[in-house]
Amino acid sequence: MQTVLFHNTIFGPIHSRRLGISLGVNLMPNDGKVCSFDCLYCEAGFNAQGHGKDGIPSRESVKRQLKKKLETMKAAGDGLDVITFSGNGEPTLHPHFAEVVHDVIMLRDRYYPEAKVSVLSNSTMAGKKSVADALKLVDNNILKLDSAIATTLTALNRPTSPNVIPQGIIADLKQFTGQCIVQTMMLRGDYDGHHIDNTTDAEVEALIQAYREIAPREVMLYSIDRKTPAENLVKIEHDELQAIGDRIAKATGIPIQVN
Ligand code: SF4
Repeated sequence: MQTVLFHNTIFGPIHSRRLGISLGVNLMPNDGKVCSFDCLYCEAGFNAQGHGKDGIPSRESVKRQLKKKLETMKAAGDGLDVITFSGNGEPTLHPHFAEVVHDVIMLRDRYYPEAKVSVLSNSTMAGKKSVADALKLVDNNILKLDSAIATTLTALNRPTSPNVIPQGIIADLKQFTGQCIVQTMMLRGDYDGHHIDNTTDAEVEALIQAYREIAPREVMLYSIDRKTPAENLVKIEHDELQAIGDRIAKATGIPIQVN
């Protein structure tokens, strides 16, 4: 297994194929992973590696480090397209996620008012009011739904709580009334005796129903790009991904971005 943890709270900027020049904000430990999912494809590795010893950064520490980085970038004349919450786990699990979002928006407005703020979330906390209210403030509220079929979601995303099911996620995402982007990782492979394939007709039809219900402003389809902790996963090549995207766009009328 070769996966990579981010070893800083503020990382990058990196060039993201989906987001452009992106400065990352990691609200999880710098030496471990904390997530309510344990996805087979997680670039940060499996949850079994543990939470590490550093703990999660305080609100004040995130604010201080981001301010310093933005000041440095601004002084150097560097460009910035987006500040992205991502990193070693699920950012909305941070106990002061909403306050951190307010700080990040305030610093963005001060240093790079033209840049966007994006959050990559696995959707499991979207039912919590303070989290949902904060997610409504960001420019790109990007929420994961990899399958609308419970057995597939369980096998692929491996939620740490048995209460996480597609119907619950769909209900939580509907509340954004279009102020969200749904992101779906497509892949197939075998793990622990299960065959996983969220590209089948039944899977795509179930996703189409889910996207119709959620009515996001956009759907992003993507596939594996780097090493994954589970070894027998197969990347869906661009042509196949595009064909699935075209089918979803035709059925739902929702703009589809294929990466
Ligand atoms: S939700 Fe994201 S951080 Fe969590 S296990 Fe899945 S890919 Fe990794």
